Amino acid sequence: MVDKNNRLDPKKCIVFFDFDNTIATCDVFDNMLLLFSKDDRWVELEKRWKSGRIGSKTCLEGQLRGMDLSNKTLDAYLPKIKLDPYFKQVYKFLQAKKIKAFVLSDNYDYIINRVLKINRINKLKVYANKLRFSKGEVITEYPFKDKDCQICAHCKTKNLLEKAPKNSTIIYVGDGESDACPAKYAQVVFAKDHLLRHLKESKLDYMAFNNLKDVLIYLKRKLI
Ligand SMILES: [Mg+2]
Ligand SMILES: [Zn+2]
Repeated sequence: MVDKNNRLDPKKCIVFFDFDNTIATCDVFDNMLLLFSKDDRWVELEKRWKSGRIGSKTCLEGQLRGMDLSNKTLDAYLPKIKLDPYFKQVYKFLQAKKIKAFVLSDNYDYIINRVLKINRINKLKVYANKLRFSKGEVITEYPFKDKDCQICAHCKTKNLLEKAPKNSTIIYVGDGESDACPAKYAQVVFAKDHLLRHLKESKLDYMAFNNLKDVLIYLKRKLI
């Protein structure tokens, strides 16, 4: 862990953000379940996923199949998603310092890229599960599924380790189940909700955050 009083070298820093409940103020996919599901079969899938009986790929696929979803209805919904009120400031600060930033998400790229674009964030690279529409059908792919991991659809750790050069200072910001593994490889972790509870139990070092203002204050103090 980086000494809390020490400055960070911007040339060495690299930042990874989770998307749902981290950059976005809600879990977009969870909201979609309520809006687009044809029945309540998604509830059982959610229970099975939360208890670890199924992985997130099986859960997501089943829940997507249960939705009445078209690109029209989805595109009409996504402008309603609100970003954390400080995300843009954090992102601009990182750009000004020439610090690389990535999104690692177990949601779908179509959803995230569209929400970012609506909010005029165009250069942030997103690694997520893939979703597209073809002739009214929802087509998904999971290029970052790890065959040895039964938990995540997008296993984030591999992408994190691939993107971060050796000796870099990895900063990780997240909240959920799929953030627990990649957070282990970060020198600076900002956590809330599930990830926060997980890290408390594991005795790993972390900082709690409520919203990204906490991250912004930290970065401004550490990176001059
Ligand atoms: Mg999340
Ligand atoms: Zn995994």
